[in-house]
Amino acid sequence: TFVPASRVSRIKVSPSTAAAARARELKAAGRDIVDMTVGEPDFDTPDNVKAAAHAAIDRGETKYTPVNGTPALRKAIIGDFERRLGLSYADNEICVGGGAKQILFLALMASVEYDAEVIIPAPYWVSYPDMVIANDGKPVIVQCPQEQGFKLTPEALEAAITPKTLWLVLNAPSNPTGAAYSRAELEALGQVLLRHPQVFVLSDDIYDQVWFRDEPMTTLVAAVPELKGRVLLTNGVSKSYAMTGWRIGYGAGPAPLVAAINKLQSQMSSCPSSVSQAAAAHALSSDQSFVAESVKVYKERRDYACARLNAVPGLSCLVPDGAFYLFPNCAGVMGRKTPEGKTIETDLDFILYLLDGVGVAALQGSAYGLSPYFRLSIATSMEAITEACDRIERAVAALK
Ligand code: PLP
Repeated sequence: TFVPASRVSRIKVSPSTAAAARARELKAAGRDIVDMTVGEPDFDTPDNVKAAAHAAIDRGETKYTPVNGTPALRKAIIGDFERRLGLSYADNEICVGGGAKQILFLALMASVEYDAEVIIPAPYWVSYPDMVIANDGKPVIVQCPQEQGFKLTPEALEAAITPKTLWLVLNAPSNPTGAAYSRAELEALGQVLLRHPQVFVLSDDIYDQVWFRDEPMTTLVAAVPELKGRVLLTNGVSKSYAMTGWRIGYGAGPAPLVAAINKLQSQMSSCPSSVSQAAAAHALSSDQSFVAESVKVYKERRDYACARLNAVPGLSCLVPDGAFYLFPNCAGVMGRKTPEGKTIETDLDFILYLLDGVGVAALQGSAYGLSPYFRLSIATSMEAITEACDRIERAVAALK
């Protein structure tokens, strides 16, 4: 019989993938489920991007590309960082992979060994700790409570750094909270990092264009340029351009790290899909109106859903700065009893009650490293969001 390697048995399947599968199964079995677990835009990929992919196929761009991506895509990525963030990267500072997820994994694989420590602020995207563990590193989880806006403070960062610290992971706007750092907050974190030259930063900016605030979104490298040689900025087209299935993500960072990532990629996948690269290059360098239009829709949904949830006694929800998730606090329902007489003791109990009781699929905060909370995706229709809010309101009202 097959016995998986320990790196496999040490990690778990992504809970969000598992929850989405459970919602799909229940739906297929005929249950009326409002699925609020989805981590991808509900919009279709823009038509001009699809057309660019067709054109690439017709031109015969159907072969291996360079390991670090096509020149056209690298140029589009460099142009995008320059245009939106005022950052200039050289060609040998760019890597391209099958999703930002692959770039993050390769960055860890290229650098982590023998219990190197990776600081992960919680709540965190579910994949970070397992990616670190799979690469023999040690996740160091730092709690960032709601009173801090779910954000890492300079004091907490300083306290978490040890001589073994190799990486700090920063993700803003965050999955699951939507929280993002102001320039002043990034500068304060930067001051700590400048005192610890062994620490590199994975800046996961995948949601940076799903941005709701008036002031422009900023990122660590832009706020603290002295750190540029120690930051791997990761991003991709999945969330901003509704291109999750095309699997294109990229990284920008110090040339030696990028070279190590590319070396691994050369032995792992050679390159991401040529057709997807052509589509991504077009998405990044053509008309950007899709981004603005979709953000307007997400913002309306966010405002509606936050207002509805904050009106439910027992729930409270911080208003996200970006991304398409809500992370409401459900402390006020802990200890209460369901109509069946079961006591809600954890956020997992609560989301299972929502699923069984009123058919709303959500994710428990514990999967993201902070309880008692739950995550709702608003990358779904206003109709579904309204229905989910009605049902959650009803479910909470039925608790004794
Ligand atoms: N980073 C975060 C915080 C995410 O939520 C996701 C997707 O869910 C990713 C990275 C991965 O995106 P990609 O589709 O580019 O692999």
